[in-house]
Amino acid sequence: MPGQSDPLPASTSANAMKYSKRFRVEPGSKVKLADIDAGFKDRHEDRESAQSELEQNSRRLAELQYLMYAEDQRSLLIVLQAMDAGGKDGVVNHVISAMNPQGCAVHAFKAPSAEELAHDYLWRIHRVTPAKGQVTIFNRSHYEDVLVVRVHDLVPKKVWSKRYDEINDFEQFLTENGTHVVKFFLHIDAEEQLARFKQRLDDPGRHWKISESDYSERAYWDQYQAAFEDVLEKCSTEHAPWYVIPANHKWFRNLAVSQILVETLDSLGMKMPPARVDIAAMRAKYHAAEALEEGGAAADGADASSAEREAESQHGKKAKKHKDKKKS
Ligand code: AMP
Ligand code: MG
Repeated sequence: MPGQSDPLPASTSANAMKYSKRFRVEPGSKVKLADIDAGFKDRHEDRESAQSELEQNSRRLAELQYLMYAEDQRSLLIVLQAMDAGGKDGVVNHVISAMNPQGCAVHAFKAPSAEELAHDYLWRIHRVTPAKGQVTIFNRSHYEDVLVVRVHDLVPKKVWSKRYDEINDFEQFLTENGTHVVKFFLHIDAEEQLARFKQRLDDPGRHWKISESDYSERAYWDQYQAAFEDVLEKCSTEHAPWYVIPANHKWFRNLAVSQILVETLDSLGMKMPPARVDIAAMRAKYHAAEALEEGGAAADGADASSAEREAESQHGKKAKKHKDKKKS
C-alpha cells in the first residue's frame, strides 16, 4: 500500500489522485495500521473545501446506481468494517442517501442468533447478498468471524484460521456470479475512538449508542488491530479488494468512500439497456391517444372553459373506466 503521507503531485485536480489506487491494499502486501495516518485529509483543509467534491460524488453515485438498476445484470456489495465508533453508520447514511432506496439494502450483522449459529457462518451472509441490479451494504459482515471470533476465542484457532481462504473463495464465487465486492476498513486511531465515546456521553441523543462492550472491546485494541491486519493482508484480492480509509475526519472518510465507489462503478462500463419495445411504434400510439384526447375535448362544447373541459374529461375517463370494469 502506498504511503499515505507522500507529497502530492504538482497537479491536484479532482482526478489527480485516484483513491481507488491510493487506499487499496495491494493483494499480498503487508499492512501496518499504526503506520497509516488515520487523520489524513489529502489536499483539503476542512469539510467546506471538500463539499463540492462530496456533492459531485453523490450525484455521480446516483447516476451509476440508476444505471445498475436499469441494466439489471450485476450487483454491488459494499462491506464496512471498523473498530467501535469507527463510522460505519455514518458511511451507510452518506452512501445510501445518494441512492434510490428501491435499488438498495443495508444489513447489519450482530452477534449471531441461535438459528444462525446452527448453520455455517456464511449462511446468514449469503442469503442477503444483492440480487442483480441491487446495491447492498453490509454494516459488519462475515469478517466478524475472523475478528471478534478470533480475538475472543469463540472458536478454536484451527477453525478460524481456515476462514480466510473460505472467505476468499466465497467472494470469488460471488464475483463470478455478477456481484462486485468492495470492502472498506474505516481506520480511526485510539484517541479518536475515545473522543467519539465522549461525544456520545455528552449528547443525550446518542446515549442509545453506548454499550458496555465499547469499553471492554477497547481493552483489546491491539488484538483487534492485529486481527484486522491479517484480514487486510489475506483477503484483499483483485476481485474483492480491501481499502483502508483514513477515518478520523468524517467528511474525508465519506469523500474517500464515495469516490472509490464512483471509480469502481465507472470502471464497469455499464450501459443503459436498449428499450424492450419498438419506440417508433410507441410514439405512434402516443400520438393516436393524444389526438383522441384532443378530439374528445373539442367535441365537449366549444364554450366551456378549459378548466371545465379538463374536469369533464377526467370525469369521462372515470366513467369509462367504471363501465369497462363492469363489462369485464
Ligand atoms: P453494533 O454493530 O455496535 O451494534 O454491535 C454488534 C456486535 O455484534 C458487535 O459487538 C460485534 O462484534 C458482534 N458480532 C457481529 N458479528 C458477530 C459474530 N459473527 N460473532 C460474534 N459477535 C458478532
Ligand atoms: Mg457498537
